[in-house]
Amino acid sequence: MSTLTNSGDDWIRGLTVRQPWAAAILTGAKTIENRPRASWRPGWVLLHAGKSIDRWALSDQLVANTIRGRELVTGAVVGVARITGAHQDPDGTDPCSPWALPSMWHLEITDVHELTEPIPVAGQLGPWRPSPDLVARVLCGTTTPLRSHTSEPVRKTCAEAWNAENPGEARFVSDPPKGWRSDGHA
Ligand SMILES: [Zn+2]
Repeated sequence: MSTLTNSGDDWIRGLTVRQPWAAAILTGAKTIENRPRASWRPGWVLLHAGKSIDRWALSDQLVANTIRGRELVTGAVVGVARITGAHQDPDGTDPCSPWALPSMWHLEITDVHELTEPIPVAGQLGPWRPSPDLVARVLCGTTTPLRSHTSEPVRKTCAEAWNAENPGEARFVSDPPKGWRSDGHA
């Protein structure tokens, strides 16, 4: 078994998942997301429901039971979640979860928080970097223990409002500005 270790990098990334799998993650039942590559690091992600729906999956009994009564939002950020690790199941063993596919990398997902209002946006197949504006909008619509890119706790307020009230402090950007310093006044 291989295990990704936490790099200490707490940047927020986007994780695009097709429906109905995104809805299954939102319920908290699906704690494993299958990926062909180990190109994921632990940390918070914006959970994004892709544009297309995996129609075949809708007839899967486990899926149907899990998402019953849920709206299948597409093309939108629907929540936030935390990736705590990624692994592959050892050869010849049972899958670690009924949601796990053999020979795939299993992203371990926890701390799922659903947005009250999905935010329409395009996603990508691999890990993608949300724009500062998108992160701010998500933080406005959720109350989670997210941290900024400089690892400070994110307040339970709109990030933009917090930024306005705290001039000169780290903003919720998707890339740490080059040469940024805590006393970074001009
Ligand atoms: Zn597994």
